[in-house]
Amino acid sequence: MLDKQPYIGRFAPSPTGPLHFGSLYTALASFLQARSQLGLWLLRIDDLDTPRNRKGSADSILKTLEVFGLHWDDSVVYQSQYLDVYHEILDKLIKEKLIYPCTCSRKALTAVYSGVCRDKRTLPKNPYSLRIKTDNGIISFKDELQGLISHNLAEQHGDFILKRKDQIIAYQFAVVIDDDRQNINHVVRGYDLLDLTPRQIYLQQILGLVTPDYMHVPVIIDEQGYKLSKQTRATAVDIKNPHEVIFELLTLLKQNPPGELQHAPSTELLSWAIEHWNPALLKNCRAICSPG
Ligand code: GLU
Ligand code: ZN
Repeated sequence: MLDKQPYIGRFAPSPTGPLHFGSLYTALASFLQARSQLGLWLLRIDDLDTPRNRKGSADSILKTLEVFGLHWDDSVVYQSQYLDVYHEILDKLIKEKLIYPCTCSRKALTAVYSGVCRDKRTLPKNPYSLRIKTDNGIISFKDELQGLISHNLAEQHGDFILKRKDQIIAYQFAVVIDDDRQNINHVVRGYDLLDLTPRQIYLQQILGLVTPDYMHVPVIIDEQGYKLSKQTRATAVDIKNPHEVIFELLTLLKQNPPGELQHAPSTELLSWAIEHWNPALLKNCRAICSPG
């Protein structure tokens, strides 16, 4: 046991609004997984997509997590503190000819990028995005809940974007750099990000980074089958009754919290949940309906 690496997990919300029920669900799963492994649970604010950031969201998210007793380790990291790092790595990848500028207009793009800009010799004068070359190799990984996932990147996605035309560093690139910098070895996040994972693993391979273990938990959907979003139940979670919310979330995580804990303080409920956490109950589950 002694030489086993300590578990380091994280929660990485985007500050695009207050923490809503669906995000708190993911946060709780990731927290329980880390704490049940006696691991660290780090918090990172994914704030690179500036047009989508909402003022005050980051602080409000942190406050909500605290109210719910989801206390994180170390100090909060903001992606925006590391812009230089992302750019340095992009420069290196350009020099190595692994990434290239693309000026295609949104209209000209198909779902799988054809790679038409691959052989451009000079840097374009117009705004451009940076894409990474993909090939027909198969990227596979075993998700702890969703089983074996295999993608042929060239066929399914084409060369994908690391830096957007509006100069914003793309999420799928930043997340790889950040998880490595923070030594994250376990990623627990929503099923909606499963499809992006092979691209992230491809980047890890190109950059010579270690691939963490992945666990994609179901997303909460409403009765119409839509993911909870800002439009539906994405209003801030009710912070007045944290224990009720946590009890409901544990039920939606299929953890069967005992009825006698229904009115217990949230700290007691969380201790029970850490001790009894059994993510296998979520195996192969992609979405959970919460009528709300
Ligand atoms: N910031 C991303 C989101 O809120 C999550 C990133 C991740 O967990 O990899 O959707
Ligand atoms: Zn192009």
